[in-house]
Amino acid sequence: MLDMLIAGGGYVGLSVAVAVKQAAPHLNIAVVEAAPEQAWKKDMRASAIIAAATKMLEVFGIWDEIEPEAQPITKMIVTDSKMSDPVRPIFLTFDGEVADGRPFAHMIPNVAMVGALRGACERLGIDIRHGLSAAGLKTDDTYIEVSLSDGSTLQSRLLVACDGVRSRLRDFAGIKTVTWDYGQSGIVTTVEHERPHHGCAEEHFLPSGPFAILPLRNNRSSLVWTERTNDANRLVAADDLVFEEELERRFGHKLGALKLVGDKRAFPLGLTLARSFVAPRFALAGDAAHGIHPISGQGLNLGFKDVAALAETIVEADRLGLDIGAINILERYQSWRRFDTFRMGVTTDVLNRLFSNDMAPIRIARDFGLGIVDRLPGLKSFFIGQAAGTTAKDNPRLLAGETI
Ligand SMILES: Cc1cc2nc3c(=O)[nH]c(=O)nc-3n(C[C@H](O)[C@H](O)[C@H](O)COP(=O)(O)OP(=O)(O)OC[C@H]3O[C@@H](n4cnc5c(N)ncnc54)[C@H](O)[C@@H]3O)c2cc1C
Repeated sequence: MLDMLIAGGGYVGLSVAVAVKQAAPHLNIAVVEAAPEQAWKKDMRASAIIAAATKMLEVFGIWDEIEPEAQPITKMIVTDSKMSDPVRPIFLTFDGEVADGRPFAHMIPNVAMVGALRGACERLGIDIRHGLSAAGLKTDDTYIEVSLSDGSTLQSRLLVACDGVRSRLRDFAGIKTVTWDYGQSGIVTTVEHERPHHGCAEEHFLPSGPFAILPLRNNRSSLVWTERTNDANRLVAADDLVFEEELERRFGHKLGALKLVGDKRAFPLGLTLARSFVAPRFALAGDAAHGIHPISGQGLNLGFKDVAALAETIVEADRLGLDIGAINILERYQSWRRFDTFRMGVTTDVLNRLFSNDMAPIRIARDFGLGIVDRLPGLKSFFIGQAAGTTAKDNPRLLAGETI
């Protein structure tokens, strides 16, 4: 019997495996991942990863491997305008450093992050089984039994479901969600530009949704471009020349000529919050517990906080000789994470509703708010600390750069 089975070998699943195994090497851990072994290498996207999460990657011993691929975000500007406005006035600027001299976030290619996490799993002797999905579960007093897509079963003292926002395991466990669709999709692609971005990230609030330009290494930027779902699908299906023309209307010419260098894909956007994060011998982590709008680039960062809190809960229980799958232990994890994820879900929801519209009174009020934040240095550094995750009072040890 396994001590811990993780369903879903994405960033969150792999991180849970590394965090627990590093602190409790005697635990027998396995990961089942639905996708084939090499599928992760095809992901051309990148994610904004906050300072607190990079501290956890340092404790995992993989930051040195990731850092050469990671672009520090040294500055951020925010604008609020219509497509037809001749200039976009800047309402808010952030210089990107938090207290200890780190940038508040880095843009990390997904391939670099997953590759490094997989390397760590291999060094720790964690068994990752590919092309196998968890297809059912049965809970007993002392273990949970998971049936797999090849007809086999695995028994474990604890199952951690990290199978993404459409988690089937969440359904199998009978956990309901609060869910709604924004009717928007986020188009993600990568562009190369003539001139350097100097580490500056930009978020332009346009009436159809935020348009984010996020700096990557070597004069490239990752785009997260929100449109109504029909328009997003039409744009992604369009010829590259048509797509580039629409892109230039939003991106502008400040970085010189643009060239598409990545796939373009549209991701439907919604809010999904699990009503419970735990059940007997069962815990949800990452998007399986909470899928949020990418307006503030915090989805995976929330998932990393789940990882750190869950690992600390499990390892401490194990050190005390307690049952790591017992519901009273798992409830500690739930009470640690529920409020924070709910707050972030609501914040991103409100921000999206506030900024993805063109009503004059709302525009005036939000621009007034942005202007106040921009003029008050204390308030601004408070927001930077919050965004970087370094000032949260309830941070688990891994996010403070400490071992469990
Ligand atoms: C447009 C967009 C931009 C974003 N940008 C950012 C950003 O800049 N910063 C940030 O922090 N977040 C960002 N996010 C959010 C981020 O991508 C997610 O939070 C993150 O992918 C969640 O990771 P995860 O491991 O929980 O789930 P996933 O990445 O969805 O991984 C789930 C894994 O489970 C596997 N799986 C599924 N079902 C099963 C099963 N039954 N059995 C076994 N395996 C299974 C899948 O194959 C997959 O590998 C963005 C999201 C979107 C849509």
